[in-house]
Amino acid sequence: MPLSELTDRFGRTVNYVRLSVTDRCDFRCVYCMAEEMTFLPRAKILSLEEIARVARSFVSLGTEKIRLTGGEPLVRKGILDLVREIGHYGLRDFAMTTNGSHLPEMAEELRKGGLHRLNISLDSLDPEKFHAVTRTGKLPQVLEGIEAARDAGFRNIKLNTVVMKGRNDEEIPDLIEFARARQLDITFIEEMPLGEISEHDRGLALCTSEEVRSIIRQHHDLEHTGDDTGGPARYYRMPGSDIRVGFISPHSHNFCATCNRVRVTVEGRLLLCLGNEHSVDLLGVLRAHPDNDEVLRETIIKAMDLKPERHHFSSNGDVEILRFMNMTGG
Ligand code: SAM
Ligand code: SF4
Repeated sequence: MPLSELTDRFGRTVNYVRLSVTDRCDFRCVYCMAEEMTFLPRAKILSLEEIARVARSFVSLGTEKIRLTGGEPLVRKGILDLVREIGHYGLRDFAMTTNGSHLPEMAEELRKGGLHRLNISLDSLDPEKFHAVTRTGKLPQVLEGIEAARDAGFRNIKLNTVVMKGRNDEEIPDLIEFARARQLDITFIEEMPLGEISEHDRGLALCTSEEVRSIIRQHHDLEHTGDDTGGPARYYRMPGSDIRVGFISPHSHNFCATCNRVRVTVEGRLLLCLGNEHSVDLLGVLRAHPDNDEVLRETIIKAMDLKPERHHFSSNGDVEILRFMNMTGG
């Protein structure tokens, strides 16, 4: 099978798939979910076997990198079995994005199951502010989860921080020192307008990557590394440390030209772009052809023609995409 089976109309090769394994979560982060959420009924979501079929089909079409996400992937029952299954596929990179709350008891099994890398979300080091952002999260549990991941032997752990003015922008220097002391990479993310939220005005809370960099530069020099590989993040380094500091800036840096990824929601919708509503139903195909993945593979190949050229986010806080991030697989 040629490596670049999946190519879109703009010549971009798609070799990275993010699979959402649940829309549920034990947190209710203000930028991601409403306080009261209605989650999908079981019949509407992909089974673990169906998620594995999707993963296998993408791998057979040249996918080299899979990330499991959600919702919170570690609250999905049987997630360790899915990790062990995908862990056998010989991927170049097999990663997960998690809020860390279940890592204390699961990090070791995830590592043994073949997961290569973890991104752990951490928006604050202050227990009260952490609770205010996540609504239900407990900081000590997440800090313990980060330690458990390090003890389990995960390398290149990356922290993800969504920066919001008035909520956690003052903690940027502390988060940098936390990451430096533990040899963890850290990426600062501009909040994206996904789903209607009520707790703050996104337009006012937006803290641009440029603003974050100028705060960090009050303490450390930052040098752009240039090793920005197809993803949305731009990476920098600081003297006296090996860690990378990344910036995801959907408002101020358009990364669409090198986009190499697609997403599959837990409802089995193949999303060609985070910032557009285009999608292709894979659930129907999976269930119509339970014993044969050929139609599934053809559907995936054809879907590449729908991948749009670019996203259309604006920075005034207006919602342009009605899906919440937990539905999208962030
Ligand atoms: N529950 C896991 C977690 O929090 O890491 C994985 C799913 S979460 C949707 C993935 C990432 O998306 C997290 O780092 C989260 O901070 C980020 N995120 C969620 N909503 C966002 C938004 N509106 N703008 C920017 N990032 C967002
Ligand atoms: Fe849950 Fe992650 Fe969304 Fe927070 S960002 S509510 S942890 S899915």
